[in-house]
Amino acid sequence: MTSKFGRLADYARVPLSILPTAIEAAPRLSAEIGVNLLIKRDDLTGLAFGGNKTRQLEFYFGAAREEGADTIVITGAVQSNYVRVAAAAAARLGMEIHIQAEERVPDMDALYHQSGNVLLSDILGAHRYSYADGEDEAGADAALQAIADKLRADGKRPYIVPLAPGHPPLGALGYVLAAAEIVAQLQAGDMNLDAVVIASGSGFTHAGLLFGLRALGQNMDVHGICVRRNAAAQFQRIGNHCRDLAEMLSMEEVVEDSDIKLFDGVLAPGYGQLNPATADAIVLAARCEGLFLDPPYTGKVMAGLMALAADQTIAPGADVLFVHTGGTPALFAYGPQLQHWTQP
Ligand SMILES: *Cc1c(COP(=O)(O)O)cnc(C)c1O
Repeated sequence: MTSKFGRLADYARVPLSILPTAIEAAPRLSAEIGVNLLIKRDDLTGLAFGGNKTRQLEFYFGAAREEGADTIVITGAVQSNYVRVAAAAAARLGMEIHIQAEERVPDMDALYHQSGNVLLSDILGAHRYSYADGEDEAGADAALQAIADKLRADGKRPYIVPLAPGHPPLGALGYVLAAAEIVAQLQAGDMNLDAVVIASGSGFTHAGLLFGLRALGQNMDVHGICVRRNAAAQFQRIGNHCRDLAEMLSMEEVVEDSDIKLFDGVLAPGYGQLNPATADAIVLAARCEGLFLDPPYTGKVMAGLMALAADQTIAPGADVLFVHTGGTPALFAYGPQLQHWTQP
């Protein structure tokens, strides 16, 4: 099936994930929402509490190793799952890692700055830097360059994992491959899907999966739930990633503008900030299925899925795949914010 992805085999890849991840039924949550919900357990990709970033980082670490790098430099939010998984991958490969923590979420307490992914990255031995302006992606990347320059002067060979647009979306290749994994599972289980619902942040997961599904001739709706920026801005980003993927893989453009579906109705008040619909979704998934979601990402995605089912953008009874992209370590950093919703 992966032969349908053009030059994909030309990209170096370090295996970091335990694959395939399961697709599970969620009967009690399905009954609550009014659709037939299936859950792709990419929270269980294995490495260091897992999540979608293990699939993405396989290609960045592949490129880093190909260049002969001995040190990784990466940026993300304070409670970034990306940098936590990168720190674990670096440990496993015997590389040094320098992580930049961006202050993207206003008014957060000491727990947020010490617990969850921060604690895990510290245990993994990451060198940590702080960056004050979490909305300045180009500035964050420039600061990474400065860190890398200093490392080079110290005789290291750093590899930068960039954040801002303008770089080939290597991480999205992990989700092009995930599309083949999902299609094989659907075929083996004789299942059909009407819709896939997924987080849309950097957009690597959304664009990669959408591109991969369309390249395999799958035409189900793919709903990206905005977790970082509004639907108009995110639409541009996903379109650009899909065009970049076609170029990187020497393939036709398989994604049309009308394929890019985005919902930003659960984003407010902004990235990483809990809202009531998200808190309700986190509690509901836990109490129906024993399934943990997180405030910045999967909780918002479930809240978005519920909103799309409620207004019948997703039809009643539809077969829907929710991609659980991980992020559960961040739950521990949001204890005070969640407290109000946790009464029985
Ligand atoms: C990073 C992340 C996302 C968003 O994925 P992108 O590829 O950046 O769009 C979703 N869920 C979790 C748990 C994440 O850590």
